[in-house]
Amino acid sequence: MLFIPRSFGQYFSKYLNIVKISAYYREIQADSNKKLVEIKKYIPGIVLDIRYATTNNFTHRQMYPQAKAFARLPVVLALKQVENDLAKKGLGLKIYDAYRPYLVTVRFYQLVKDTNFVADPRKGSKHNRGCAVDLSLINLKTGKELDMPTGFDSFSKKAAAAYSNLPKQEIDNRALLKKVMEAHSFKQLKTEWWHFDFNGWKNYELLDVPFSAIN
Ligand SMILES: [Zn+2]
Repeated sequence: MLFIPRSFGQYFSKYLNIVKISAYYREIQADSNKKLVEIKKYIPGIVLDIRYATTNNFTHRQMYPQAKAFARLPVVLALKQVENDLAKKGLGLKIYDAYRPYLVTVRFYQLVKDTNFVADPRKGSKHNRGCAVDLSLINLKTGKELDMPTGFDSFSKKAAAAYSNLPKQEIDNRALLKKVMEAHSFKQLKTEWWHFDFNGWKNYELLDVPFSAIN
């Protein structure tokens, strides 16, 4: 796990309202929908491949202490409906990333310094709100990922949601993912086929709550 200097977070914090641990605990007492919950606890069959808990990601560094995926409660309940729909077709979801503490977004920016590829820390990411998920489809029988235009976090132009110079199977798989996610209150990001924002994300603040403080 990387050491992230507090001071960078404080620098960007002046632009933003970032909810830290004690304020987060107060918030979830007042409104249980704001709770971050562990996705696997609500959807036991979901497959996780949390790349930022490994060195197999664009930073080549381990950014998360644990291979866990969290999101706000209504986001997870919507994902559960997606998983149920997919199960009827023998398919399921594989999650690459979900809630991301704000200081990790700052660290991504320090490493890449290009807001075409990483979130601008002056705005934060919808992942910091617990309202975005990065995912793909798997075949439930084989556990294998369906063919998609690129891998997760590709910086290639093929990652764009509307990129069309692709084999038909990849286009069909991508379209299926979009359709099932949009049927349950998610919206696909134009530049990344695997990234979906939960509609209503504006109601959820940016958080800087570490995984270890979520229960
Ligand atoms: Zn994402």
